[in-house]
Amino acid sequence: MPTCLPLVLRRCHACASERSRASGKFRVNANHKLIDAWLLVLCTACGETAKLTVLERMNVRCVRPELLDRLHDNDLGLTAELLQDPVVRRRNRIALDWDNAWRLDTGGSHPPDRGVIDVSVRFAARIPVRPVRLIAEGCGLSRAGVERLIAEGKLVSAARLSGKLSGDFTFMLKR
Ligand SMILES: [Zn+2]
Repeated sequence: MPTCLPLVLRRCHACASERSRASGKFRVNANHKLIDAWLLVLCTACGETAKLTVLERMNVRCVRPELLDRLHDNDLGLTAELLQDPVVRRRNRIALDWDNAWRLDTGGSHPPDRGVIDVSVRFAARIPVRPVRLIAEGCGLSRAGVERLIAEGKLVSAARLSGKLSGDFTFMLKR
């Protein structure tokens, strides 16, 4: 689950730093019937403000009133939703840096040392994470230990456990 907003990966035009953070603020500009809205981000190195396009010359009647309210209120939840929206990310050519912005919640317990367990992993946001890392942390194992269990066929999943995942998956662990 996210613990804070991810950083925004984009090159600052002022200092060429690669990272910005969301300011938590929006700028809305209504001109007659057309509306523009931006999410404001700040360079983590020099503080320069940049605008990420949320709405571009939209007819104001086509925008849900609820969205307008949230923009005007600088709704922090809306910032989180928009950063996770692939359309917004593509349009603004940004990616997200989730390092230190999430945590694994195991409900406070490791699984038992012996026996067979089925585990479901649920993502509260689409955060790309190595499943081996999650399983190691959640089961109190080393990553090498997890790799060994996979190689021995004692840890099986329909999901691909190499590389990164950002969506729910299950696995079975036999010990
Ligand atoms: Zn900068």
